[in-house]
Amino acid sequence: MFDRPLKILFVSSEVVPFAKTGGLADVAGSLPKALSLVGGDNMGNDVRVVMPRYQQIEGASYKMDFPVPFKNRNETAIIRESSIEAHYQGERRQVPVYMVDNYHYFFRERMYMFEDEADRFAFFCRAVLEMLPRLEWQPDIIHCNDWQSGPIPLFLKTHYASNQFYNRIATVFTIHNLQYQGNYSRDALAALGLGDEYAHPDRLEFYGSISFMKAGIVYSDVVNTVSRTYAEEIKRPELGERMEGLLRKRAGDLYGIVNGINYHEFNPRTDPRIYRNFDQHSIVNKRENKFGLQKEIGLPAGEVPVIGLISRLVDQKGLDLIAETIDELMAQEIQFVVLGSGERYYEQLFESIRARYPDKMGVYIGFNAILAQRIYAGADMFLMPSRFEPCGLGQLISLRYGTIPIVRFTGGLADTVHDYNPATGSGNGFGFSEYKGQALLDTVSRALQLYREQPEQWLRLVKNAMELDFSWARSGVEYLQLYQEAMNKRLALRQIA
Ligand code: ADP
Repeated sequence: MFDRPLKILFVSSEVVPFAKTGGLADVAGSLPKALSLVGGDNMGNDVRVVMPRYQQIEGASYKMDFPVPFKNRNETAIIRESSIEAHYQGERRQVPVYMVDNYHYFFRERMYMFEDEADRFAFFCRAVLEMLPRLEWQPDIIHCNDWQSGPIPLFLKTHYASNQFYNRIATVFTIHNLQYQGNYSRDALAALGLGDEYAHPDRLEFYGSISFMKAGIVYSDVVNTVSRTYAEEIKRPELGERMEGLLRKRAGDLYGIVNGINYHEFNPRTDPRIYRNFDQHSIVNKRENKFGLQKEIGLPAGEVPVIGLISRLVDQKGLDLIAETIDELMAQEIQFVVLGSGERYYEQLFESIRARYPDKMGVYIGFNAILAQRIYAGADMFLMPSRFEPCGLGQLISLRYGTIPIVRFTGGLADTVHDYNPATGSGNGFGFSEYKGQALLDTVSRALQLYREQPEQWLRLVKNAMELDFSWARSGVEYLQLYQEAMNKRLALRQIA
């Protein structure tokens, strides 16, 4: 596609394995690796990642420090460096990960949700751009992700617009979840170093706030989100989170590319975290993962179908449908294993369900990456009844581990899960569209019925699921095409200017 390797800077507020609260971290820890190995006429690309250096991150080595113009003063940014290793068909490559460190803004007990969030991420974005000439590295593309990096396209078109070093850099802004927008009071303009004229509806003003998400959408060369269906859904008021008008305005530059997962790391044949390795030719070994999981979570071990759920416990995830139907669900002969953390209400809800159904319900409240793998490997079915879902990774990891997803068809779930058709045997899971408890129950019943009554068909479904390819191979190439699009746009704009 390109006759030379591209230089790509990937900006994210969280990156696996350094810091993670959700799917963005998985994408930031896997897409850059894939891009470092494909494209560029098969030479791979020069991809580098940048994130904040949070308190819990150890082992990153000092690279440089410099002053960052910030709020009429200079604030020091320290850059540390670590890396993530990419593997592909026997090849390996190190992808550098730069970390912006500042004791005051990032040395704190958690990653987000502070009073001075606008200051923290405005500073981060400014520091990222100030870092580049000091690295003597001029990217072709800066790929920004979610509101935390929204100011970068804005800065390029304001503070750095007439600077030769920056003005050929094209920007891509990816929306991983439109619900989290980074909206702040007008004081945020001072953090961004911009005047009141930017509090304008064509610029950053958003229902009386200054919106970092809007900055990314308005000022980037192209915008995308993490599935085709979500790209359509966010142009309508139901899921547009009040940005639908703006997104419709940019519809010509708005794309949808479904996420992949790292098939090297998420591999049931080699995953060291699970009880027994297996692949599509040894599905029988999956049972030992079920028995191991049952024991670990305190449920009686046996052949009973196990439904898993791993999720941030927030309204988005459709948990009220589970609350509404839990007694009917539990009347079935099943076990239900839940791993999650988030809103206190849902944490207590699942704890109380466990108290009522101790032999059927296993619950772990907290974040636990090892248990997560054991659930993906050990469960028979994986439940994601999301109210909305930009892409969703849980269903992709489940499929890889032969665990059949039961989903609500929305966003990326609609693009990646296809209802099982008993007549043809096609499909890779079960789903429903209407956001209703009864629809969820009917769908779970259909899955259970196939599991119990037609074990051979079930086995075929599991095998099919494991043979699908949701690695980054295809979506990585789509990102390269998107970068080309962004570079064309940038070039055209420079020619006009
Ligand atoms: P979102 O980004 O909305 O949280 P995704 O499905 O895109 O949802 O990604 C969630 C990722 O986080 C998946 O990799 C999932 O396995 C993981 N995850 C969510 N909650 C937990 C938890 N409590 N412990 C371990 N992993 C979790």
